[in-house]
Amino acid sequence: MDEKLESIFWNVQQRNQGEAEFIQAVKEVLSSMGPVLAKYPRFAEQKIIERICEPERQIIFRVPWQDDRGEVHINRGFRVQFNSALGPYKGGLRFHPSVNLSIIKFLGFEQIFKNALTGMPIGGAKGGSDFDPKGRSDSEVMRFCQSFMTELYRHIGEYTDVPAGDIGVGKREVGYLFGQYKRICNRYESGVLTGKGLRYGGALVRTEATGYGLGYFVQEMLAARSDSLQGKTCVVSGAGNVAIYAIEKVTELGGRVVACSDSTGVIYDQEGIDLPTLKRIKEVERMPIEKYCETRKHAQYQRKGNIWQIECDVALPCATQNELTGKDAASLIQNGCIAVAEGANMPTTPQGIELLLDSKVAYAPGKAANAGGVATSALEMQQNASRDAWSFEYTDRKLAQIMKDIHDRCMETADEFGAPGNYALGANISGFMRVADAIQSMGLI
Ligand code: GLU
Repeated sequence: MDEKLESIFWNVQQRNQGEAEFIQAVKEVLSSMGPVLAKYPRFAEQKIIERICEPERQIIFRVPWQDDRGEVHINRGFRVQFNSALGPYKGGLRFHPSVNLSIIKFLGFEQIFKNALTGMPIGGAKGGSDFDPKGRSDSEVMRFCQSFMTELYRHIGEYTDVPAGDIGVGKREVGYLFGQYKRICNRYESGVLTGKGLRYGGALVRTEATGYGLGYFVQEMLAARSDSLQGKTCVVSGAGNVAIYAIEKVTELGGRVVACSDSTGVIYDQEGIDLPTLKRIKEVERMPIEKYCETRKHAQYQRKGNIWQIECDVALPCATQNELTGKDAASLIQNGCIAVAEGANMPTTPQGIELLLDSKVAYAPGKAANAGGVATSALEMQQNASRDAWSFEYTDRKLAQIMKDIHDRCMETADEFGAPGNYALGANISGFMRVADAIQSMGLI
């Protein structure tokens, strides 16, 4: 980083002390900004980067709720409305005990660039709570969602801010959130949330979109190297919505996914992960992944195992932030991995990224490779605005095209700014350019 960027970064650190994940995400983006400021000094004069690093609005609120035994619990709710230069704030809600302001800010910050990269009119935001849905009954989850929305409703709207899901928030939670919004506002405002069920304004492909989009992106990455997924051994960390549909798409495109994981451990199935079994355990029964081996007896389970030790051609981190360390990157490189694409947000540590970028491995950051989820959310918003519903095939074709466009945009931008093949730099710069141009056109906002 040059002196100007160092000083911007120093100020961000001072102002956001203790927010390790947010500072990490900002540093990663700033490290790509040198060539842009050199080419467009007006962005520096207008302090565009400084403006993007400061959220437009941060909302923190109390979420009281009662469990099934009548005991009262208090959780903390967040919504960070980071940037609305390109459109209404857009980004998911995460319910996980690790959630804090730093995590929501890093996710909201990443979302600005990701959403810009999709080419759709959506700003960046993120929200959530430190509520732990694990082991909670359906009615407890419902009461929590209702209480969460009882505060959140006043801050969102189809032209203001459109939340969706993330870790711990899927169709069930979005349903409860939408029901409470509708009840409080007395408005059937379908476009206020995305990831809805099909009966009440949801869109086909949204459930699969992040994982499918990742599959399409990897296909493009390999095609750019005159290669393909055909016969490639893949490992996919995680076993949630992103991982499941990434496995489905990668398998359909000819890859062989041999391992996946959850917070309890790793499963290795040399015959290829059996999706119906995985889906039943994780989507229906909501059980630890070890149960997979009860059905697939030849599969191996390793409690708290490290999935990145498994030899593979393609590695897809689809679990959570900082799950792939420098050590992990080194063993992937050593084992002959050719591509790493992020289904999760910021799953690779700075050391891991550095090693991958210095190696021959093609590395795609989450803000490009996992943008299919939010892009399909924007398609859901389009359908809601026109009171229309598109077919699965039509929507899926649009998603594939969006992912190809993002891929090509990253490649072209990396070329233009003197770093051919560097998807991280390409994604940061091309996302930034869109937001920066819009901010500049609107005056001092
Ligand atoms: N949580 C997803 C993401 O990280 C999707 C957000 C959305 O659909 O608004 O991009």
